[in-house]
Amino acid sequence: MTDTADLYEVVNPATEEVIERVEMADLARTDAAIARARAAFESWRRVSPADRARLLRAFAAAVDADREHLAQLEVANAGHTIGNARWEAGNARDVIEYYAAAPERLFGRQIPVAGGIDVTFQEPLGVVGVIVPWNFPLPIAAWGLAPALAAGNTVVLKPAELTPLTALRLAELALAAGIPEGVFQVLPGHGPVVGRRFVTHPDVRKVVFTGSTRVGKEIAAGCAEQVKPVTLELGGKSANIVFADADLARAAATAPYAVFDNAGQDCCARSRILVQESALDEFLALLEPAVLGVKVGDPRDEATEMGPLISAAHHARVSAYLTDDVSIHLQGKVPEGRGFWFPPTVLTPVDQGARVFTEEVFGPVVAVVPFTDEADALRIANATEYGLAGSIWTRDLGRALRVAQGVEAGNLSVNSHSSVRYTTPFGGFKQSGLGRELGPDALSAFTETKNVFISTEE
Ligand code: NAD
Repeated sequence: MTDTADLYEVVNPATEEVIERVEMADLARTDAAIARARAAFESWRRVSPADRARLLRAFAAAVDADREHLAQLEVANAGHTIGNARWEAGNARDVIEYYAAAPERLFGRQIPVAGGIDVTFQEPLGVVGVIVPWNFPLPIAAWGLAPALAAGNTVVLKPAELTPLTALRLAELALAAGIPEGVFQVLPGHGPVVGRRFVTHPDVRKVVFTGSTRVGKEIAAGCAEQVKPVTLELGGKSANIVFADADLARAAATAPYAVFDNAGQDCCARSRILVQESALDEFLALLEPAVLGVKVGDPRDEATEMGPLISAAHHARVSAYLTDDVSIHLQGKVPEGRGFWFPPTVLTPVDQGARVFTEEVFGPVVAVVPFTDEADALRIANATEYGLAGSIWTRDLGRALRVAQGVEAGNLSVNSHSSVRYTTPFGGFKQSGLGRELGPDALSAFTETKNVFISTEE
């Protein structure tokens, strides 16, 4: 550490205690890391597919062995409940293990042509810069780094200022598992310094960004300068659409978890509940005990279902949405004392032009509005610039499919709220993003296709 080091105080959001001081990288350190990644690329891309696969499997095994430690770090750093944090550490392991199978299956094609043989190669891009937000530090890091490394790229990763601890641990685990120096580096730092450098540095050949739509637009504009490919996973304002013929008890019992999980700091949060008019009263009556039943408290307690918000500043941002003209239908309870607590909050009725109904709150606030029929439900669901996720509750299969085809969003679930499986593609329509992560095709976002024609003419 240098005398002039920029130290960032990492705070536990449930206690407001400083748990660590992390040195933030400056431009010189960022450039040095990119140079190391560039040098390491030449040898990493030549590691045989079987050996690259073996190294990634060893990395996944190291994450697996460290799962409880990683989970505890996330509880302390991000205020995630211990149950969620364990799932997140397991997800990081699964994603690395899943893409460990990819190097040996990274096929090109042989295309019939006249006068020779035509083959394609899927070649790595070079250094990939991954920029991660604070809401799901571990999974989102893994979704970027695992397919990038599997395809033969090297990775520099910038965690969010607020939550660097699990990413730093991942870098240690990678090295311990035998991933060579320089292949995967983590650089804690400020967005406009380190993240911005990933965009402007010509040796970073691709940027993967997850975060706010505002910063995502800046990154896309910066990458355009160098025609640099970019994957963007941005904000959301997802609809949970409940038809009168649905299993209303299940729809109401699960709705709070689809928005209050991770204290609503989830890009897929179903923060708008659309209920068919004829079922509205019954749904609201069933929703009330479900909301009041959400256990908010110490994230270390295994029974806790919701922890605090990430920071005092974010608490102020979320609170600012509850202006005097917004009528609160229902609010849960939170612990007293220190910590950035915000109660589960249900708003109704809500003016569909109100900020709280159109903007991403990124906190435990949900708005309920009625709709008349299928067309009205789709009109409301699609009246947003976002298009990330959504849920459809109905017992009518034809309607479920019609509505799933009609909602402009990348990840929909019928009679459930699941959005993320590492085996299936994830990403947004409209201003929720560009490109897809996860699933069988993720490597195509980390490779270039090269076409080679070999003449067979004498
Ligand atoms: P943010 O955009 O402020 O920051 C995200 C990351 O970008 C951080 O690492 C930050 O340091 C960095 N950054 C900030 N300014 C930068 C710049 N000028 N150049 C380069 N990097 C910069 O977002 P946040 O507040 O950390 O995260 C919350 C947002 O992320 C929400 O809007 C949420 O919806 C979104 N999100 C989306 C997904 C998804 O998959 N679609 C997943 C999680 C979070």
